[in-house]
Amino acid sequence: MIEEILPGIVRMEVPLPKSPLKATNSYVILDGSRPLVVDTAFNRSECRETFLALLREIGQSPDSVDYFVTHLHADHLGLAATLARNGTTIYFNEPDLPLARPDEEYWDWMGRIYEQHGLPLRDSREAMARHPGRIYGPETDFPYTIVHDGDLLNRGGYSLRCVQTTGHTPGHMCLLIEGHDMLFCGDHMLGDITPNITMWTGMTDPLGCYLESLDRVSRLCLKRALTGHRSLIDDCDGRIRELKEHHEQRLREVISALRDGEKDAAATTPLITWDLRYDRWDDVHPVQKLFATGETIAHLQHLEARGVVRSIMRDGHILYRIASS
Ligand SMILES: [Zn+2]
Repeated sequence: MIEEILPGIVRMEVPLPKSPLKATNSYVILDGSRPLVVDTAFNRSECRETFLALLREIGQSPDSVDYFVTHLHADHLGLAATLARNGTTIYFNEPDLPLARPDEEYWDWMGRIYEQHGLPLRDSREAMARHPGRIYGPETDFPYTIVHDGDLLNRGGYSLRCVQTTGHTPGHMCLLIEGHDMLFCGDHMLGDITPNITMWTGMTDPLGCYLESLDRVSRLCLKRALTGHRSLIDDCDGRIRELKEHHEQRLREVISALRDGEKDAAATTPLITWDLRYDRWDDVHPVQKLFATGETIAHLQHLEARGVVRSIMRDGHILYRIASS
C-alpha cells in the first residue's frame, strides 16, 4: 500500500509476517538525485520482496536511495543494512550503534541480566533464540553515517531536522519536516499500541528519558506524527497525554504489586496488566514474557529514580521493595 503524505513524500506499508506490529511504515522522500527512505522492515524474504516491489511501483531501486533509520530495532534497520550497497548512505544515531551490531556475547549478556531479574534462564534462552532482533537484524556491519540532534538533511526540497528522542532505544532519532509540523517518529509514538520501553545497558532510567522525550516532542506542536507502525497520529498532544497516563497507570500497578513485600521484576510482571491474551502467565510466549519483564524493569528503575522503590542485590539476584520514608 502506498499513500501520499505531502507532495513527493509517500508512505509504503511493508507487512511483518506473524508480528503483532502487523507492518512497518516505510516513508520515501522523493528526490531528483537520491531519494531518502525513512525506516525499512525486517531482513526476511517476505519483507524484502514487498519492499522492493513497492520501491519499483514508485519508480525507485535500492541502488538509487539512501536511508534514515530511526533506531536499532530489526523491523526498522534490518532491511536497510541488507540492501545498502557501496555508495549508499544510511543515516543512524550514535548511541544505538553498538547495539545495531549485536554479537553472541551480547545475547548471552542479556540472558544473564534477565536471570538476575528473576527470569528463568530456560525462558530467556528460548526468548533469545526466537528474538526478532537476532533472527531478522542486519547480516553484516555497515559504515553508518552518524547524525546528531539538530543536524539538517535536505531532500526533495524539504528541510529535515534530526530530533533525538531517547527512551524506546538509547539514541532513538526522529526527523522533523520543517515548515510542515510533521515528524517521522519511528517508534517514539504509536497510534494504536504503546511503544515498548525496556532496560538498556548504560542507562539508569530509560522510562524517565522517554517521558522527557515525549515532552520534547509536545513542544514541537506537531500537526501529524508519521509513525513507524499502523495508524498515523493527528492529535499528537492527545496521544502524548494518553502515553504518559499509560505509564503512570503501570507505575501505580508496579507499586501495588510490591505492597505485600519485596519481589524481583519477573515475579512483579504477572501482577501487571498487559495487552496480551493468556489464561496462565506460564503460557505466555517466551519473547512476550521477555518484553513484558523488560517493561517492568524500566518501570521499577523509574520508581527507584523517583525515590519510591529501592533495589537490593542479594546473592546475584535483584529485588525491589517500596522505599521506607
Ligand atoms: Zn522499535
